[in-house]
Amino acid sequence: MTSGRSNSLSLIADISPSYCPSRVRKWFSSRTGLQLVLVDQDRPIVEGYFAVATEIEDDSGCPHTLEHLIFMGSADHPYKGLLDTLGNRAFSSTNAWTATDSTVYTLSTAGWQGFRSLLPVYLDHLVRPTLSDAACYTEVYHVDGKGHEKGVVFSEMQGVENEASTIANLHAKKILYPDSSGYSSETGGLMGALRVLTNDRIRQFYEALYRPDNLCLIIVGSVDADELLETVAEFDATLPDLDPASKKPRPFVDSPPVPRLQQTTVKLVDFPDKDESSGHVLISFQGPPATDVLTNTALHVLLTYLTESDVSLLRKKLVEIEVPLATEIESYTEDFIDTELDLWLRNVPTSKLELVHATLFDVLREHADAARNEFDLGRMRDVIRREKLQFMLHSERYPSTLATLAITDFLYGDRETGKSLVNLVGDLDDYETVLGWEVSDWLDLMHKWLLDVPHVAILAQPSASLAKKIRLDGKERVRKTREELGEQGLEQLAKKLKSAQDENNRKIPDDLLEQFPAPDPAKVRFIKTATGRAGLALAEGQQQSGSEVQEILDKDGAREAPVYVHYEHIKSNFATLSVVLSTSVVPEDKLPLLNILLANFYATPIELDDGSVLDYEAVVTRLKRDTLSNSYSSGYDGEFDELLTLDFEFVPENYAKVVDWLRLLMWRSKFDVARLQIVVEKMAMGIPEMKRTGTTVVRSATRRLLFTPRSAARVLDELDFEDRLQEVSALLKSDPQAVVDELEQIRAALFTVENMRLIVCSDVTKLVDPVSSFTKILLKDKKSAAAASLVPITRTLENLTPEGASLGGKAYLLPVPSTESSYATVFANGPTAFDDADVHAIAVACSYLEAVEGPFWRGIRGDGLAYGAGMLRSIESGRIGFRVYRAADALVAIERAREIVGGYAAGKTEFEKLLVEGAVSMIVSAAAEADNNPVDAAERKYLQEVIKGLGSGANEKFLAGIREVTSEDLVRVMKRWFVPLFRTESASVFVACNPSKTEGLRGDFERLGYEVVVDPFDSLKRVGEEGSEEESEEGSGEGSEEEEDSSDEEESEESEDSDDDSD
Ligand SMILES: [Zn+2]
Repeated sequence: MTSGRSNSLSLIADISPSYCPSRVRKWFSSRTGLQLVLVDQDRPIVEGYFAVATEIEDDSGCPHTLEHLIFMGSADHPYKGLLDTLGNRAFSSTNAWTATDSTVYTLSTAGWQGFRSLLPVYLDHLVRPTLSDAACYTEVYHVDGKGHEKGVVFSEMQGVENEASTIANLHAKKILYPDSSGYSSETGGLMGALRVLTNDRIRQFYEALYRPDNLCLIIVGSVDADELLETVAEFDATLPDLDPASKKPRPFVDSPPVPRLQQTTVKLVDFPDKDESSGHVLISFQGPPATDVLTNTALHVLLTYLTESDVSLLRKKLVEIEVPLATEIESYTEDFIDTELDLWLRNVPTSKLELVHATLFDVLREHADAARNEFDLGRMRDVIRREKLQFMLHSERYPSTLATLAITDFLYGDRETGKSLVNLVGDLDDYETVLGWEVSDWLDLMHKWLLDVPHVAILAQPSASLAKKIRLDGKERVRKTREELGEQGLEQLAKKLKSAQDENNRKIPDDLLEQFPAPDPAKVRFIKTATGRAGLALAEGQQQSGSEVQEILDKDGAREAPVYVHYEHIKSNFATLSVVLSTSVVPEDKLPLLNILLANFYATPIELDDGSVLDYEAVVTRLKRDTLSNSYSSGYDGEFDELLTLDFEFVPENYAKVVDWLRLLMWRSKFDVARLQIVVEKMAMGIPEMKRTGTTVVRSATRRLLFTPRSAARVLDELDFEDRLQEVSALLKSDPQAVVDELEQIRAALFTVENMRLIVCSDVTKLVDPVSSFTKILLKDKKSAAAASLVPITRTLENLTPEGASLGGKAYLLPVPSTESSYATVFANGPTAFDDADVHAIAVACSYLEAVEGPFWRGIRGDGLAYGAGMLRSIESGRIGFRVYRAADALVAIERAREIVGGYAAGKTEFEKLLVEGAVSMIVSAAAEADNNPVDAAERKYLQEVIKGLGSGANEKFLAGIREVTSEDLVRVMKRWFVPLFRTESASVFVACNPSKTEGLRGDFERLGYEVVVDPFDSLKRVGEEGSEEESEEGSGEGSEEEEDSSDEEESEESEDSDDDSD
């Protein structure tokens, strides 16, 4: 394959990075200036990043509004949502983001086939968007028939503009950069500017910036390069010649250089918050040019050295102290033409904002004082080695890692030769260079870039009066608008909106959709891993003999091993060891303390074999040296919440060391009362935040009400643990030994060889002593304890309360004063067997209902009843559910879902053929997404095949099964499983809402025949005791802060509860 195939695109770089299995090529069209980067990586998902460099001098939000308007249709495809709808068919999803210096459009597809068919349509949207006035009206800004300010972009920015981080960032940027620099702009658009932004202005911006020589297509995955070049060359051929005579300036690169700061500025700014107890500090520095890769690497590791772990300098001096000055210190860089270095100190007590700024520089200055000799070169070198490995790991695991570098190179590098790209991605030699630096080099670096130069410090302080003012101003604005417009004026606005919506919502013709045949799922290249087994795991498979992997294991004593080890052989430079433990062995009354044991697990003193004790700092430091990450989680791969998983990531050379760490952490650790106190303190600090979030409150309530205290799913819930937390905190002061004794009892019960399923994901050929490491090292202390049998795996459905076991008839109303929206989950009993005959049809039906442009999307989100609605299905816990988030009125949304589901069940509504195909396609792409790197693929395989007991090839069988689902199957499962979700006698409802709404809802649910329980955990009474006064004025919620920041947790909760995709 060469670039010779197309005459317009020439290959300008061909790089095989030394550190990860991939090949990076870049092509450049000298005729149009278009750029194309292909990162070959073996993974099922193909990802595209289409980047436009976007510089703007003002806060009008042109870059962000354009990002939205691009999706509203193109000349050849003038339909809103076409890309999403086609994406449903082609195993794809689309997205985009607007940064300060660029707008990036993404396309993610399972397999190359679907990607190839969508690419031309997507690119057509980028180069020939309709940018209609109607689209601008609905998407950007308008006033609706009730006098409220709306518009997708406006509402989005309304939620962001008054957040502390946005305010601090913008203030810092306005000082760091001159007004004329694009770096000083809020490219998302400030509300004031969005109100007056015209479609003409957006079009002008489009004409100036969206041009072929300012566009770079980056594609990562397993791609047919010939076909890709052909497709892009065809696209390039439709683009106009680059006219050298009227060459337009390159954003940022051709702009006047940013002057260096002349003086340090410390600025106190307000952000709105009812709670005035803590604020944040942002400290920004001007760094070196982005192209100075060596200095940037050095500064990156320096900031990591200063902030990363509990034993780093700044955390040790500012956070891990008796009265913390902040709860969090983060560092990051903005990779602009000159790098910007940022330090964030979060949750700083308001009275100490100035102090923390001064203290931070004192600490840094002392550390950089050569005479004091404080700099820890050994730890710095550990940090460098680890950061290098982290980068290698990320570039192997995540497609975005190399794509991000390609975007930076496109924005600031050499466009026409590819040299800067080679410099950026070719090797990791810069890490080696700085590994050789001496202390003096590091101190020089600290002085040159942090201490001897001016900086900007923003002290962001909370202001209750500002919060109140913003709320009142919002109300006043609506009142005034209504008054000025009068009923007639408002009516006209309503009409104008309606006609714009009608113009936007033109139906996509089915025959257009049918031109894009659904790709063949069999062509999606899922990652294959080979299984091997040792010891007790051997009983789980018959087919080992003859396999290469098994032979290696057998030679190392797999047949005699007195432990359970399951191996997944993967192609990777990295390995993981997971330990899966059942919580069923822990005595029920001790179970809650598991929270503390786990939080303390990786950062506690250890007694070594020679009797000496490593303090916790040494443990943290050495663990970091030997592993890339260590963590614990409840469940395994997001399911089976009665299990616990301990995880280690490392290079295969450190296998024996990691096995020894596991032994030491489980059996040789010491409970240090001072450390335990810090653990308890930190947990308590996190709780108020959780109580402010609707989805967390709902999730917690379902766990506390449906599971018994025997269930880890319940006791590991932070809100369930809250009461015990206070008790433990008191006990740690009065009788610490009592706490330690309980923890010792948990440890003795939990960490036994019988209760341990060890799972190794690695290139098995790279492991020395893959099996005997466990016998020789892990069981060194426990030879007599060799396992004869394994503790069985418990399912959450074994620990249900009577109510949880037989759902129905109850409605719980959970008051959350900080929210104006409602969040609800409805549960009914669902199938419990992983091989239930209805599993495939239920999966397709859920996917169908929640599809983009599907029934819930149109009927609930589209009608403005809620921001989102979806299905939950967990065979593991035997439940099926419906959830709605950010609803204006949860009950109305639930009722609408009932009508929709009822229509399908009764045969009144027909299943749309294209949408069913789309639903199947979405399941395929979700499965590919979940398996997009070898480790994730291996974990999912173990979950499906072993823990769920579905046997080998479970994933393939599932994907084959969903394709055979018929309309009759869908009607059947709707009747059997979905209709009961909306019947009083079989459904249990959990609603989090503003306390002002509970009484109304109580009446509504009672009329439907529910037994209603308001505030089952007395949360309002507790708030009262804590002395916080609550204002709950109705109608002030539009675009309130809370609404926006819930979007992230939606993601996380969704993946937690509904990822049964491969049942
Ligand atoms: Zn947006």
